[in-house]
Amino acid sequence: MKPARMIRRLDGFGRIVLPEALRAQLGIEEGAELEFYSSGDAIVLSRFMRGCVFCGLPRRIIMFRGQHVCKNCIMEMLDHAAEKHSPNMSVEASIK
Ligand SMILES: [Zn+2]
Repeated sequence: MKPARMIRRLDGFGRIVLPEALRAQLGIEEGAELEFYSSGDAIVLSRFMRGCVFCGLPRRIIMFRGQHVCKNCIMEMLDHAAEKHSPNMSVEASIK
């Protein structure tokens, strides 16, 4: 299915309004963070996904004390903590 074509005019400050139907379709609400970049002659706009504070990846993110951390880094931290503080402690035991 060909996507609906929507045309908006850029104002004097460089702003456009995202069509309400498009925002509703994509679940973009007021306050949402969006990012855009150029790709050739196109401008690509997408929802901004904050990356992990340690590895930068934007997947499997949870908030911990105001920071975005991915589950992979959390598991690595648990392994590291288990090795440093209790050589006999398993990761499963430290999660409980
Ligand atoms: Zn990470």
